[in-house]
Amino acid sequence: MSENVNERAVLVVDDDAFVLRTTALTLASMGFGVVRTAESAEEAERIIDSADPTIEVVLLDLNMPGVDGVELLRRFDERQYAGDVVLVSGEDAQTLEMAEALARSRHLSVLGAIQKPVTAERLSTLLFRNPSSATGKPSAPRLREITPEQLRDALAGGAIVPWFQPKVSVARQVPTGVEALARWPTSESGPVFPDEFIPVAEQAGLIDELTFAMVEQSVTAAEVWRARGFKLKLAVNVSMDSLHFLDFPEKLCARIEAAGGDPTDLQLEVTESRLTTDFVPALDVLLRLRLRRISLAIDDFGTGNSNFEQLQRLPFDEVKLDRTYVAGAASSKRDAAILESAAAVAKKMDVRVVAEGVETLDDWRRVEELGCDEAQGYFLAKPMPAEEVPGWVADWPRRRAELFSGPG
Ligand code: C2E
Ligand code: CA
Ligand code: CA
Repeated sequence: MSENVNERAVLVVDDDAFVLRTTALTLASMGFGVVRTAESAEEAERIIDSADPTIEVVLLDLNMPGVDGVELLRRFDERQYAGDVVLVSGEDAQTLEMAEALARSRHLSVLGAIQKPVTAERLSTLLFRNPSSATGKPSAPRLREITPEQLRDALAGGAIVPWFQPKVSVARQVPTGVEALARWPTSESGPVFPDEFIPVAEQAGLIDELTFAMVEQSVTAAEVWRARGFKLKLAVNVSMDSLHFLDFPEKLCARIEAAGGDPTDLQLEVTESRLTTDFVPALDVLLRLRLRRISLAIDDFGTGNSNFEQLQRLPFDEVKLDRTYVAGAASSKRDAAILESAAAVAKKMDVRVVAEGVETLDDWRRVEELGCDEAQGYFLAKPMPAEEVPGWVADWPRRRAELFSGPG
């Protein structure tokens, strides 16, 4: 096993030159052949972008002047860094745990967190434990390379379709709406998930096309459901990139109307983490969407570092508590605490609160206690193709009886 591990190129990021040198020496003594070092976030990004061989493990100091480790994690996520991350800090265990949760919510492969000083012993428990280390490859979902050309073809051929996940009212226990989630059902190597192609779409300037394709197909599906007697609110995810174009609201409404829908029936979900960084340019467009009575939700609430004041200035009527905290609250005190405070902040803002990632009856009870208005998650339903939605809704009373008949 260690043969393979030794081939992995490691990057150590720390603003302290002494720590850098000793950590690099420690790694070398553990058998790592390629060890690079960076004294700043900028340098780290340059190495990640250009390093040959590709960096597969980053040891990241959270406390650095300028761009700190937390910010760097966000940038890693944005540039789709596919390797593993080990967090290093002089901070207490709680802070490390929080940073770890944050990194995971950014879909980064986190091997773990260690407190300084970095020793061979602490490192080896993390570096030699993870199954992906054994193969020297990053974890599966981020492996595949989708090219802009493949994505463009898929969009042109209508290969990317919405699946729908129900939202259920917590108080009334009835389905209220659905969220459209992009699916690319067939490719040579199996279904492709949005985490793999949304970033490509954003980078290649295809995201508006994708959003509009999702909106059109979702509106059409909702019209079919309605004709069969099922009225459901429709939510579609929208990338922050789209909100930089001032004509986005007009274009969006034109597409909705062309598909036979009513813009006021549609809700857009926008991820919190990017709201804060791109706050000002988006505000304009968000306000104009709101003027057109399109409802807006803050997605992945709790993962960003938005402050209350900023959020209050945004025209939102719903927040969605991030699924990592909802599902994680059962086993992690930290997640439970973040969930609780996120719910409290949302309540203060006086907007509808939706909990996503409700996976068990316990999760359901917890979000009920927190006063959430709606819930979404595998406990209730997984995302499904449009044609299965009416059947699912019709079957709900039976399923509901089954789901909530558990003990307690
Ligand atoms: P999201 O908006 O937070 O969507 C919820 C994700 O959680 C979905 O993943 C859904 O399948 C998954 N999920 C639902 N219930 C549970 C649960 O109980 N447990 C767990 N562990 N997961 C659950 P999916 O479909 O892979 O989408 C991932 C992300 O990709 C979405 O996160 C959203 O940010 C983005 N996305 C999806 N479709 C689109 C789209 O059309 N446009 C844009 N811009 N982004 C999209
Ligand atoms: Ca969403
Ligand atoms: Ca979310």
